[in-house]
Amino acid sequence: MPDRDIPFARPFIGDEEKEAALRALGSGWLTTGKEAAAFESEFAAFLAPPPAAPVGAFAVNSATSGLHLALEGCGAGQGDTVLLPSFTFASDAEVVRYLGAEPVFVDIEPETFHIDPAALEAALDRLSRGLPAYPGGPAGRPAAVIPVHYGGLPCNMEPILELARHYGARVVEDAAHSFPSLLPGRGFAGTLGDAGVFSFYATKTITTGEGGMVATRDPEIAARVRLMRLHGIDRDVWNRYTDRGASWYYEVIEPGYKYNLPDILAAVGRAQLKRAWELLAMRKAIAARYDEAFRDNPRVIIPRTGPGDARHLYPVRVRGGTPAIDRDAFIDKLKERGIGVSVHFIPLHIMPYYKKRYGLEAEQFPESLKAFRQLISLPIWPGMTDRDIGRVIDAVGDISGK
Ligand SMILES: *Cc1c(COP(=O)(O)O)cnc(C)c1O
Repeated sequence: MPDRDIPFARPFIGDEEKEAALRALGSGWLTTGKEAAAFESEFAAFLAPPPAAPVGAFAVNSATSGLHLALEGCGAGQGDTVLLPSFTFASDAEVVRYLGAEPVFVDIEPETFHIDPAALEAALDRLSRGLPAYPGGPAGRPAAVIPVHYGGLPCNMEPILELARHYGARVVEDAAHSFPSLLPGRGFAGTLGDAGVFSFYATKTITTGEGGMVATRDPEIAARVRLMRLHGIDRDVWNRYTDRGASWYYEVIEPGYKYNLPDILAAVGRAQLKRAWELLAMRKAIAARYDEAFRDNPRVIIPRTGPGDARHLYPVRVRGGTPAIDRDAFIDKLKERGIGVSVHFIPLHIMPYYKKRYGLEAEQFPESLKAFRQLISLPIWPGMTDRDIGRVIDAVGDISGK
C-alpha cells in the first residue's frame, strides 16, 4: 500500500476542542460573549503571569484584523510611513495601506530572517529628515515599525525598541508565528512593543480556524482596539447620562470595523491554549530529529534557533553543489514523494502591487530575495508520526544526494 501524503500543516484538534465547540453551539450564544471574554483573560494571564505587569488581550477574527487595529491604535494614518521587513506575509503591508499610510520595506538579517536593525536605522534616518526611505520610495513620518518574529524565533527586540523610541515610532510586533515564544528574562514575544498580534489561522501554533489576538499594555491602544473592533460603538454612554443602565442603547463614536471573534471559535481557542506547551514540545521534538539528520548535510542549512523559539516553521535553505539542484526542483521532488512543503515568504517587494507602486527592484532587498530563493518550509506539525518524520528526512537526504 502506498504511503499517504504528508500535508505541510495539519491542526491538532482533540476531544477537548470538539467538546468546547459543542458547548458553545449549545449555549444559545454563538457570537462574541462569555467564551471570548474567558479566552481573552486566559490568554492575558498566559502572556503575563505575575509578577509581570498585566497585559490586555483582545480577541479578533484574524491577525490581519488585529494588525489593522493595533496600527490604527498607534495613530498611523495618511502621510505616515510604517517600516516592516519585505520578507513577511501580505497582512503587514496591506493593513498599512488600509490606513492610507505607506509601507516602507526593510531588508532582513540573513541568518534569522528578522528585520535588520542597521537597515531599519538607515531608513528611519532618511524618513526623519523628510527624505524617501530609498530613492523613489515612500516618504512620511515614521509612525510605526513592525518586527516579525519569523518562524517563532523571537527578534532581538532591544535595538528595534531603541531605534523606534529614538525616532518617535511605535512598535507593533507581528507575533503570528510565535505563540508562545519567550525572550529569556524579557517576557513573551508580542508583549515587548506597544502592541503584539497573534494569529490562530489553521496552520498556526494554536488555532481557532481563523482568529487572532491583540496584546497591549498601553491603556490608550487597548481602549482604541476595543472600540474599533466592534463598529466604534460606545456602550458606556447611557450610564454617563442616566443611572438606569439600559442595555439597548449605544452610540457610534467612530466608523469602526467588524473584527470580533465569535464564541464558537473562542471556545476552541481556550482548549488550544491549554495545550500550548504540549504542542510546542511536539514541534520541538520534530525539529530535534530534523536538526540531527540535516546538520551534516552540506546541501541543507538548518534554521537558526534559540531557547524561546516557538518552532512554528522549520525553514531549511538548500544550496548549490553537485548534482546541481535548485530550490524549485527540490520542492517538486518532495511533492513527488507526497510531502507537502511551503515557502515563507515570497518577499512583498517583488509583489506586483508594491513593485509597481514604489518602483521597486528585486535586488533592492538582496537578503530577502536570497532567502526567498533558497528556503523550503518542511512539515512540522504536532501529530506527525515517527514514520512521517522519517519519510521527510529520507526524502531530503535522497534529493540532496546525501
Ligand atoms: C499568518 C500570518 C499573518 C496573518 O494571520 P491571519 O490570522 O491569517 O490574518 C500575519 N503575519 C504573518 C507573519 C503570518 O504568518
